[in-house]
Amino acid sequence: MKRYIVVGGGIAGMMTAWTLHQRNALHKIYISPQHKTASLIAAGVINPITGIRFAKTWMADEIFPFTFETYRFIEQQLNVSFFQLTKIFRIAETVTQLNDWSARSESDSFQPYISDDNDISPFIGKVRMGQGGFFIAGAAKINVTALMGALAKYFEIQGMLVSEKFDTDSDQSGVIFCEGIEILKSNSFQKNPIVPVKGHYLVCAIPELKTNFIIHGKATIIPQPDGNFRVGSTYQRGDISAMPDDTQIALLEEWLKETIQTPYEVKDVLVGIRPSSVDRRPILGALDKEKNIYVFNGLGTKGYSLAPYFANHLCRHILDSESVMDEVNVNRFSYS
Ligand SMILES: Cc1cc2nc3c(=O)[nH]c(=O)nc-3n(C[C@H](O)[C@H](O)[C@H](O)COP(=O)(O)OP(=O)(O)OC[C@H]3O[C@@H](n4cnc5c(N)ncnc54)[C@H](O)[C@@H]3O)c2cc1C
Repeated sequence: MKRYIVVGGGIAGMMTAWTLHQRNALHKIYISPQHKTASLIAAGVINPITGIRFAKTWMADEIFPFTFETYRFIEQQLNVSFFQLTKIFRIAETVTQLNDWSARSESDSFQPYISDDNDISPFIGKVRMGQGGFFIAGAAKINVTALMGALAKYFEIQGMLVSEKFDTDSDQSGVIFCEGIEILKSNSFQKNPIVPVKGHYLVCAIPELKTNFIIHGKATIIPQPDGNFRVGSTYQRGDISAMPDDTQIALLEEWLKETIQTPYEVKDVLVGIRPSSVDRRPILGALDKEKNIYVFNGLGTKGYSLAPYFANHLCRHILDSESVMDEVNVNRFSYS
């Protein structure tokens, strides 16, 4: 069996390495300590319902069960805990939104995401309700530090982790590039399809807010294992500096004040760069079939929802010659 090198230690690279390893087809995973990893900034929220009209996340019904099963399997195999099912308390700004959700609740296809228990009393006096609110079920939260740390340690014990930059200029074969925004330096594409989207999170103490649920209002407020909350996140296209930006911090504080009505203290600011794609879909498949060079990138948002499913999709393409879905296939872009 041919074994592959994976380049990148974000969620795309880790899930690809894990899937290959399950098939006895992983040689090494390279993780460059000198490059930033967006996956370690992400709050690991898995949200099945998005947008102001409450649409289902793209392919949620198919992707989420696979993703949840994969994370549970990793927890079991590595004896680590990082996956938590949760609900999202969604603040309704308008009566139309409440009516929209009520209409969704009648639909069979939305039943996995409708909560039986809609007790909003813990939020009264703490959260600015707008026109009210409701819970979205079927969401999850990943403790990203625990997951990524456990996988890195596992590959290290297997002798498969190389903690250095992979030389992308060398002549190689059997490589899967999962480099996040570092792909912007690559000459593989005639026009690079990755768009960097910078994001900020505030890390806040909100002592009077006692909840394990995610709150989604003007700001999204995500409880953390240490008792603090992540408040985010912003979207700034094109900026690739890792420096925090005061206007974005001010914007997040403004959103936070519009979402809660209790005191808070900003303890830290986190910045990451999302490797978004021009059409907002993942990018995967063969860059050079003869040399066995592949790519998995374009996880601008929802990396933690999509990566397990599409890592498996890519590995089935590589190992079992299954075709790649048109919507995510790298061949929708021109490459050299
Ligand atoms: C503020 C913010 C909040 C977010 N919140 C969420 C969220 O709640 N839920 C969610 O699902 N997603 C979230 N995201 C999006 C998520 O971070 C991305 O979807 C995901 O992390 C992209 O993963 P990736 O593996 O493609 O890239 P990255 O995580 O950036 O990983 C790229 C890796 O490649 C390595 N690398 C690059 N070049 C080389 C080389 N030559 N040799 C060796 N290694 C190399 C880097 O070191 C890095 O480890 C958020 C993003 C931001 C910025």
